[in-house]
Amino acid sequence: MPTGTEVETRPVVLILLGPPGAGKGTQARMLEERFGLVQLSTGDLLRAAVAEGTPAGLAAKAVMESGALVSDEIVLEILAERMARPDVARGVILDGFPRTAGQAAALDTLLAGVGQAVTAAISLEVDDAAMVGRVSGRFTCAACGEGYHDEHKQPAVAGTCDKCGGTEFKRRADDNAETVAERLKAYHAQTAPLIAHYAGLGVLERVDAMQDIDAVAGGLGDIVARVTV
Ligand code: ADP
Ligand code: ADP
Ligand code: ZN
Repeated sequence: MPTGTEVETRPVVLILLGPPGAGKGTQARMLEERFGLVQLSTGDLLRAAVAEGTPAGLAAKAVMESGALVSDEIVLEILAERMARPDVARGVILDGFPRTAGQAAALDTLLAGVGQAVTAAISLEVDDAAMVGRVSGRFTCAACGEGYHDEHKQPAVAGTCDKCGGTEFKRRADDNAETVAERLKAYHAQTAPLIAHYAGLGVLERVDAMQDIDAVAGGLGDIVARVTV
């Protein structure tokens, strides 16, 4: 029961770190449902900007197709727009952001400005060798965005989305073997160093993401339950 003397609960800021195909999107959606947080995927926001043909989208399109990272400037702009919407008040799961030292520093500054900090940065640890298979088998429901995999996570009824009953699915243009190799390089060169950044801040957690989807969700759920009390 509230006593009236409790400190007001701070919004939760969780970061999911991991290479392409690690399971960030899959797990973020499961955490959203379980903990009432909002998934914020810069990849999804960028793909929406590309589809809409906004200036940011036009600038990002070719970079994304090559597997390189979009500039911090563009990413920070679309992130700030999304963070300004009221539904993020309870807390967010950042999926695919930050991905560079510059983005991490910008996030720390943004949060410090409103008296907040990163609650936990959770590294989904996977072998590089598994990534091509994870990414090339990936497809999503065109209507609700639920993620599937040709081998690891098929819809219960073939051709029908478990979540919304949709029957159209899509695959990403950058989910091919050549682009994945570039995306992995970008991950190791620019994103993996953030693991040390968050270890230094005392908020790093690690999960073995080579386990099956439910086992990863169990480990992650335990961490999130612990850090959000
Ligand atoms: P990310 O967002 O990190 O790029 P996704 O969550 O989209 O990764 O997962 C990539 C693909 O691998 C999807 O097709 C997903 O269904 C599948 N997948 C996710 N987690 C696992 C897992 N633990 N084991 C096997 N396949 C997985
Ligand atoms: P995945 O985790 O499966 O690699 P995302 O959907 O997170 O895929 O990202 C797809 C692409 O969008 C990246 O390869 C990159 O070009 C761009 N992107 C997404 N998030 C960022 C970010 N935070 N900084 C720079 N580029 C990004
Ligand atoms: Zn669906």
